[in-house]
Amino acid sequence: MSNRDWLDRSLKAVWHPCTQMKLHATGVLPLVPVARGQGAWLYDFEGRRYLDAISSWWVNLFGHAHPRMNAAIRDQLDRLEQVILAGFTHAPVVELSERLAALTGNALGHCFYASDGSSAVEIALKMSFHYWRNHGQADKNHFLCLAGGYHGETLGTLGVSDVALYKEVYAPLLRQAITVPSPDARQAETGESAADVARRAATALEATLATRHESIAALIVEPLVQGATGMAMHDPEYLRLARALCDRYRVHLIADEIMVGFGRTGTLFAHEQAGVRPDFLCLSKGLTGGYLPLSTVMTTEDVFTGFYDDAVTQGFLHSHSYTGNPLACRAALATLDIFAEDDVLARNQRFAERFTALLAPLAHHPQARHFRHRGMIWAVDIATDDPDFRPRFYRKALQREILLRPLGTTIYFMPPYILDDDEAALLAERAVAALDAALQSSPLLVGEGLGVRA
Ligand code: PMP
Repeated sequence: MSNRDWLDRSLKAVWHPCTQMKLHATGVLPLVPVARGQGAWLYDFEGRRYLDAISSWWVNLFGHAHPRMNAAIRDQLDRLEQVILAGFTHAPVVELSERLAALTGNALGHCFYASDGSSAVEIALKMSFHYWRNHGQADKNHFLCLAGGYHGETLGTLGVSDVALYKEVYAPLLRQAITVPSPDARQAETGESAADVARRAATALEATLATRHESIAALIVEPLVQGATGMAMHDPEYLRLARALCDRYRVHLIADEIMVGFGRTGTLFAHEQAGVRPDFLCLSKGLTGGYLPLSTVMTTEDVFTGFYDDAVTQGFLHSHSYTGNPLACRAALATLDIFAEDDVLARNQRFAERFTALLAPLAHHPQARHFRHRGMIWAVDIATDDPDFRPRFYRKALQREILLRPLGTTIYFMPPYILDDDEAALLAERAVAALDAALQSSPLLVGEGLGVRA
């Protein structure tokens, strides 16, 4: 079977996510058939290759076909592939829960499982509301979210998200959260630091909490980097202040670390950089090294005991069929093993220094604005008014063997943690070449501060 055969069959039978299918059918957005993956590379059916510089939608931490990940999953396959987690338990889910809890210093000692990020966010929202209800405060049934926040695509998660492209159409179906200003450091005015912007956003948060805390269950945030809106980065000061405000006004803090968890921001969990703990920590994506769908919501003893009662309805009666799937939990255990055995965070730090230097030509490109970096995430806004910049850049990058999917006019890099020096150099060099090629036919935009289009 050739690429063409797979493309034709896919276009007929598969409804691809996050895509206007006509763009695929007309080739504006090429559809790439993948035969196999190895390390950072994806290969099509005719031997062409693509460097997976976005870790296959931010999940694939250690590259494709990693031998230790593969071996762990194969071993688990011969023992137990799936079992109902209501009324039954198994070794991988117990070990994973214990190890994750230990990684939070046992502050978040109870893990509730689901299969994807959106479900984890739904669980955290429901748990928070239900906790207050169990404590006789059922009026606390609204949520706070940040401008530009993104927490998933289900109706519940869209209600606490603020990315118009994904949300606007479904507005009539949603229960809208209260949106407070983002601490996005790009908003810094002359002489202001990122921490100043964070303090400004926290002041606005306080104003909302002061007047409405009695009806608010939780504040949900993407710690340090708001991903889907365009990799908006903020100072840890915001999380410190938000934690203190949530404590003062008795509101839960939900940390959605679905994207930023597992080393993406330089520490294992992003909230560590603020020296605080959330009440709920949502994890997914990198949790299984990008191998299998799994998510978890980790929470405190206080929340857990808020549900522990003789009354069945005081309990958390929420479930998904694949909750705590053994294969996925085993993949997650292998992921944690690799973090420990390979000293991944230290390697990433060394890599990040080199890669940031390699990206200097992009950072200083005449049409680059707000080049930013945290941990293993790099982003830059491109000043262009070309409405087709995104598909144009995407195609030019693919033509140069790299997979980069801009968010609007923001180009970002979220590579797997295994790039070698040659791959890093190739990626940095070809990204600039793709940018120049994409811009060639589009007019120059003079001036600063192009907003992010999602
Ligand atoms: N929260 C954040 C911060 C995310 O980045 C995503 C996915 N991009 C989600 C939630 C939703 O996760 P999923 O796509 O697995 O439902």
